[in-house]
This record gives sequence, structure tokens and C-alpha cells, in this order.
Amino acid sequence: MATEAFTWKNNGVLTLLNDETTRACVFLLTASADVNAEGMCSVYEVRPRGCRTYPNVLNEHDEAILDEGCPHRSQFPEPSEEDAITLLNLEEQLLHEV
Ligand code: SF4
Repeated sequence: MATEAFTWKNNGVLTLLNDETTRACVFLLTASADVNAEGMCSVYEVRPRGCRTYPNVLNEHDEAILDEGCPHRSQFPEPSEEDAITLLNLEEQLLHEV
């Protein structure tokens, strides 16, 4: 599958496309636009690295934090400095993809 078929550039960062109807990731199998709707990743075994590292995200100071938008973040350990390095490397790679 060509990268252009499922991504777009969001302020220069390679980003997964959202489905026009559900507004969810194009790989999420769901029938509803409700953010609490049931869904399953159709590419789970080969999902992007950003999905594998979630809910770790970078804040504006390039520190790794748990995404405040994730309702399950309390079930994850606080990200380490190594997690921040992983995310910074991923961000750098996504800025130079495509
Ligand atoms: S895990 Fe990633 S690829 Fe899979 S549905 Fe969620 S956002 Fe999309």
C-alpha cells in the first residue's frame, strides 16, 4: 500500500488519514463517529510505530508525557527519557517521509 493512500502532511508531519464518515483513523473498523464506539484496528499487527508508542506523546518541551486525551492513560507507566528519545526519533523520521 502506498504511503500516500493512508497519510497526509499535517504541518509537515506525516499523519494517518481519517475516514470521512466516522472521522476515525482509516484503519479503524467502526461504524460510528461516536468516540466511544466499538472499533478494531484492521492493521494491528503492522500498525505504525506512533500507534505502538501511544499513549506516550511529546509535549511542547519535547518531553514524553501520557496523552491527556487517552481515557486509559492511568493504566500506563509514566514515560521515561528513553521514551522521549524514541518519540523524537520518530518525529524526525515523520518530518522527512514522503
Ligand atoms: S492503532 Fe493506529 S492504525 Fe490502528 S486504528 Fe488505531 S490509529 Fe489507526
